[in-house]
Amino acid sequence: MSRTFFEGAYFGLVVVASLVRVVYTIRHKKTALAEERKLSLDSLLTGLPGFGMFVVPLIYVLTPWLDFADYHLPPWAGWIGVAIFALAIWLLWRSHADLARSWSPRLEILEGHTLVTHGVFRYIRHPMYAAHLLWGIAQVFLLQNWIAGFSMLVTWLPGYFYRIPVEELMMVEHFGDEYRDYMKGTGRVFPKLWR
Ligand code: SAH
Repeated sequence: MSRTFFEGAYFGLVVVASLVRVVYTIRHKKTALAEERKLSLDSLLTGLPGFGMFVVPLIYVLTPWLDFADYHLPPWAGWIGVAIFALAIWLLWRSHADLARSWSPRLEILEGHTLVTHGVFRYIRHPMYAAHLLWGIAQVFLLQNWIAGFSMLVTWLPGYFYRIPVEELMMVEHFGDEYRDYMKGTGRVFPKLWR
């Protein structure tokens, strides 16, 4: 399989992942807000990965500008990328399905917000962010270029390190011991295998 095949696979999988997001965004009815964590940096940090996921990869395949930074991996590495991306899509879908009405693209507590601790949330507190991390790793295998391959990880990691502590603080302040107990039995993005 050629590198063009895996570049095509990347964009095909991006379409599927985006569809999952679009379906749940449409379903997400505007629920009355109880609390919102105003983050000046949050919109910037959540918007930035869009460049890493879509814009830089498109520049890479549509222009020769980034070709100087290509690297070459064997075909099996491309298939590893496909498998990791498939896992990311599954996790993105399951986390949206499990979070259901508690999901919101912003950091906020909704009216009647319930703490979700079942499904994939039983093992990790941030499965949606874990899905994006997997997407970023898959990209390294599928777009074999030092700029386009790493653009998602580089644009996503600052938000990850910034947002998770703020989100967990908000959850602790709102749910108190219920969230503290939940934290004890779960990992942030890697499942806690011992309990
Ligand atoms: N960090 C989670 C959710 C991201 S969506 C993940 O990666 O899967 C962000 C919203 O989810 C926030 O507004 C927060 O209120 C809500 N949220 C996060 N964890 C939650 C949980 N366990 N139960 C209910 N809502 C949660």
